Amino acid sequence: MVVNRGGVVYGARFDSEMTVVHARAESLNECDAFSGSKYVQSDMRGCMPAVAEDLRSGAPVLFSGTPCQVAGLRSLLSVTGVKGSLITVEIICHGVPSPGLWRDHLRILSEREGTPVLDYRFRDKSKGWHHPGAVAVTGAGEMVGHMVSAFSELFDFNYAQRPSCHVCPWARPERGADLTLGDYWGVERVHPELDDDMGVSLLLVHTDDGQAAVDAISESLELTFLCAGDFDAPNLVRPTPPSPDRAAFWNVYRAGGYRRAIRRFTSYGVSRRVLRGARRAARRLIRGG
Ligand SMILES: Cc1cc2nc3c(=O)[nH]c(=O)nc-3n(C[C@H](O)[C@H](O)[C@H](O)COP(=O)(O)OP(=O)(O)OC[C@H]3O[C@@H](n4cnc5c(N)ncnc54)[C@H](O)[C@@H]3O)c2cc1C
Ligand code: SF4
Repeated sequence: MVVNRGGVVYGARFDSEMTVVHARAESLNECDAFSGSKYVQSDMRGCMPAVAEDLRSGAPVLFSGTPCQVAGLRSLLSVTGVKGSLITVEIICHGVPSPGLWRDHLRILSEREGTPVLDYRFRDKSKGWHHPGAVAVTGAGEMVGHMVSAFSELFDFNYAQRPSCHVCPWARPERGADLTLGDYWGVERVHPELDDDMGVSLLLVHTDDGQAAVDAISESLELTFLCAGDFDAPNLVRPTPPSPDRAAFWNVYRAGGYRRAIRRFTSYGVSRRVLRGARRAARRLIRGG
């Protein structure tokens, strides 16, 4: 809709180093790189002035990001008096993990494989949307398992988010964007007929501009209307609480590094302990025999 009108789209993608960055797209092909959640804080460098420049030039702009990124952009545009055709799309936000931990994660995966990580799917749906798994794509092929999923565990169990995410002022029902996107958690309870295990999104419309944007693409959407209470979205009500072990995690990380921290706090460590135990038991059996 925006691209077809000669507009531009901003969203989060991986750059050539697998850093998550906010980038600008003018074609649908370029927009493809924004698909899929990247559970890492994106680097917004240069992005807000570029949006302002596009709006000044008269181009329609769609900006997608976290609620705080949308709020930051709206605040900049208001202070600088830049107006134009802007649609903002935010995600329901559980918080963003540290880019430093993400670099460490990429490093240990590439050390294990002896080749850099080329792509990464935080939520691969091959075992279904209800059981997403992380997949790293390296020069040697696809990598799965406890080491790969350790980063998702840090996110899911709230060790890795920015401290500001635990006091997020945007974790509330009142929103700042035209549209909010999330996962439709609770679909199996309220609308089991929609749950094909391939994923159902939640779309919240807050403004007339947001409604007009949805109307413009409604033919390509399968929409079902919901009432409050039909979906679970804890981050629309309160910020994500930190793990009770968050401080312990960061102490281990600072003292011993990423690998030691994930050994201690994720199932990567459990799987290694189980493996070591099994090897010891096998050696005892062999010696006993
Ligand atoms: C860090 C993070 C936390 C989330 N927490 C929740 C949650 O608690 N509850 C919930 O219901 N949904 C959450 N989501 C949103 C959810 O995972 C889906 O992204 C959302 O449902 C949209 O899915 P989609 O398939 O429709 O769009 P997709 O094709 O997945 O589009 C994703 C959109 O999100 C943007 N995006 C992706 N990664 C980032 C990033 N790191 N920073 C800023 N923007 C990004 C892209 O620009 C793109 O526009 C979260 C997403 C992220 C990135
Ligand atoms: S949880 Fe709040 S502060 Fe953290 S990235 Fe999301 S919107 Fe921003």
